[in-house]
Amino acid sequence: MLKYEWLLCPICGNKTRIKISDDTVIENFPLFCPKCKQETLINVKELNINVIKEPDAKTQSR
Ligand SMILES: [Zn+2]
Repeated sequence: MLKYEWLLCPICGNKTRIKISDDTVIENFPLFCPKCKQETLINVKELNINVIKEPDAKTQSR
């Protein structure tokens, strides 16, 4: 019994065009968000999204 969910952009929370289920495993995937037009490198496992690398656009320097 598979349940599919939309993969959400980790930056703005917008739905992307990708659906994942609880047995979907994604590694080092450049997720492109059509809303904020950013690519984020992610891992997905068991519906958990881990951001590997955020876009360089917002550089947080201290
Ligand atoms: Zn986004």
